[in-house]
Amino acid sequence: MLPPIANRFVAGETPAETVEHVRRLNDRDVKALVNLLGEHYDDREPAAADAAAYHTLIDDIADADLEAAVSVKPSQLGLDLGETVFREFLDELVDHAADRDVFVWIDMEDHTTTDVTLEAYEELARAHEGGVGVCVQANLKRTRADVERLADVPGKVRFVKGAYDEPASIAYKDKAEVNREYKDLLAYAFEHFEGGIAVGSHDPEMIDHAIACHDEHGTPFEIQMLMGVREDAQYDLADEYEVWQYVPYGNRWKSYFYRRVMERKENLWFAVRAILGR
Ligand code: FAD
Repeated sequence: MLPPIANRFVAGETPAETVEHVRRLNDRDVKALVNLLGEHYDDREPAAADAAAYHTLIDDIADADLEAAVSVKPSQLGLDLGETVFREFLDELVDHAADRDVFVWIDMEDHTTTDVTLEAYEELARAHEGGVGVCVQANLKRTRADVERLADVPGKVRFVKGAYDEPASIAYKDKAEVNREYKDLLAYAFEHFEGGIAVGSHDPEMIDHAIACHDEHGTPFEIQMLMGVREDAQYDLADEYEVWQYVPYGNRWKSYFYRRVMERKENLWFAVRAILGR
């Protein structure tokens, strides 16, 4: 069972706990992007097991009539074993999700995976209009060109700053540069995109910028944030905008929890207080 210390950032170890969490979010007008924790498999078996778990999760979401999508990592669906394995699992997943009317987001991993991930997105989003989305990272210098190419794809694009430590030859390393790039990408998307726009950031400056772009162009958009991060802001924003919470679950929660705790001093204090029982 998930220890109480982890359940700020992770919904539970089982789909049943996750469905309960999503129901509570939906009651407060927040939608959910559910992610089964797992990545970088070098055997087919765990990738197949996670793919099967996503099929069941999609059925759970549809049967319970929840406002929820799934969000999957390419390396969780076997990308480290080759593009063929990844596409086999991803294509089956997207077909099944389309049958059950559940949206599929493809998370973006490090730069070595960008081409294959965007190719899969373009193909699947054109085949299943309005059913598939992909994430792009403002810290990568290539993203401007990618975003221009994706402008007329009938899917959704989630804009994030980028979570991976990339080489300086291909990535902006300075925070201010990444922020500037993020804002420029959003401005472009709000002006030119035919598909949907998701703002995947906790940064009030980026969210205000998105709202200003929305006010100027009228383009619809959604805000996406992680479970356990600025949740009060999520509920406040949901009064006026579409808000989705990224909800991880599963028994591989330790490294995800550790990343959340280490990325911010306040989160570290939260963990220490929880351990001390205060
Ligand atoms: P930061 O640049 O980290 O912080 C800027 C400001 O935001 C802070 O000064 C503070 O005001 C506020 N803030 C940030 N965190 C907190 C906090 N914990 N508590 C209070 N205030 C805070 N990355 C990928 O590479 N691939 C993905 O597929 C991907 N998917 C994502 C999906 C979602 C829904 C989200 C929210 C993020 C995703 N990311 C992904 C991670 C992303 O790339 C960033 O690493 C992460 O969101 C941190 O950047 P930020 O814009 O939230 O703010």
